[in-house]
Amino acid sequence: QDTPSQMADSQILKNYLDFLIGLPWYKASVDNDDLSMVAEALNKEHYALDKVKERIIEYIAVKIMTKKNPSTILCLVGPPGVGKTSLAMSIAQALGRKFIKQSLGGVKDESEIRGHRRTYIGALPGRILKGMYDAQTVNPVFLLDEIDKMSSDYKGDPTSAMLEVLDPEQNHTFSDNYVEEPYDLSQVLFIATANYLENIPAPLRDRMEIVELSSYTKFEKFQIAKEHLIAKQLEIHGIKNNQFEIDDEAIYHIIEHFTREAGVRELNRYLGSLIRKAIKEILVTKVESVHITKENINKYLGRDRFTDTNIHTEDTVGVVTGLAYTQFGGDTLDVEATYYRGKGGLVLTGKLGDVMKESAQTALSYVKAHADEFEIDSKLFTENDIHIHVPEGAIKKDGPSAGIALTTAIISLFTNKKIDNDIALTGEITLRGNVLKIGGLKEKSIGAIRSGIKKIIIPKDNLNETKEFEDEIKNNIEYIPVSNYTEVFEILWR
Ligand code: ADP
Repeated sequence: QDTPSQMADSQILKNYLDFLIGLPWYKASVDNDDLSMVAEALNKEHYALDKVKERIIEYIAVKIMTKKNPSTILCLVGPPGVGKTSLAMSIAQALGRKFIKQSLGGVKDESEIRGHRRTYIGALPGRILKGMYDAQTVNPVFLLDEIDKMSSDYKGDPTSAMLEVLDPEQNHTFSDNYVEEPYDLSQVLFIATANYLENIPAPLRDRMEIVELSSYTKFEKFQIAKEHLIAKQLEIHGIKNNQFEIDDEAIYHIIEHFTREAGVRELNRYLGSLIRKAIKEILVTKVESVHITKENINKYLGRDRFTDTNIHTEDTVGVVTGLAYTQFGGDTLDVEATYYRGKGGLVLTGKLGDVMKESAQTALSYVKAHADEFEIDSKLFTENDIHIHVPEGAIKKDGPSAGIALTTAIISLFTNKKIDNDIALTGEITLRGNVLKIGGLKEKSIGAIRSGIKKIIIPKDNLNETKEFEDEIKNNIEYIPVSNYTEVFEILWR
């Protein structure tokens, strides 16, 4: 007679066998090896992104020629909502392969990739084989989402397990602790996504071919909405083209006053919500169709969530506009400085990260060391405390790129000189006053334009990349390149 524990054992065994039998071992879908189909699928579903599409097509071309997967993995890097997932889905569709997605965000334990040994209670297979189980074929397109959000802890490093997954030399005998049988992953087309390139563990980055996607401009978002999102939403909701109309101005209104994002996710959600409201109106009031205009949009979506500009309206001593780059895209970031009687202390507030705090220390040391040059009485430093605050204290800020903005706020404070409020600054500062290259300039520029900024002082090493920006950005921002802080001082106050 079975004891309860034996019952449990048999259940575990059954689960194991079910999983083993359920895994695809041989069944493969037949690839569609027509490169023009791939190009067509990518173009049909996605506006712009020309360079990205080109890189993907080249990548697939190699696959078709060599009849095996390229030895590097394609990794799409960019902020949320810019189309990384949907590009990967289009690739799968065009090749005629199954599409599987597993998020690696928050994975910090090797066993989440490689599974637990069955001797553990509640043992499970890892995410890779779970994905294969769902795929039901041995050659799906397998999207490894948020590969930059993996981290390691005392239980082991998931990176090494991922290296084995992605290495064509090793992955034909991938071992999962749960399954215990070698499993062949060599036919899987892996594609990874990440938000920040810097956060991808270096050994993994070496295995990848990086393709960068950046934020969309207002115009691009508008085009994406008009050419893709609206039609898709109408289809999802089963409503006909002639029952719903939206003016261009209304689309722009949503982009400007309801969303703050790098991609188009929020925009897509608002369009969906508008269409649902339109359906309700059609059903309830029996109108033929609904026409959304700039005038009536608030009736449907409620009050605007964002107002136009957020730069401080007056030129003020000790207040400087910096630029931030977050996963929501770029935005302006005020830096405020003030001082009061004290003993030379520095107070920093506004939820700043360590790098940004150090950047403020560096800025202060640089200003102290060059006090004469900036015509600041050195006694001011010893007899006062300085307080630097970066408002919206609830949002965590970090990174070195506020360096020259922090420096400028301190100098402005002690020289009593104002800064034009249509200038923003971005650049890392060194103790020698050198201005170093920063990331996310395109995103920052888009945020700056939205806030009414006309000129941005940037590191000289960033100047080249600005030449590739869309005209919409270049025509609205004057970039002033500098390599040392003395030049910033000249530009602002001489
Ligand atoms: P990500 O994976 O980068 O976070 P998604 O692929 O989920 O972004 O994109 C969010 C939505 O925006 C999807 O519905 C996608 O189809 C749409 N989208 C993003 N970029 C474009 C584009 N260039 N053209 C058409 N649709 C796009």
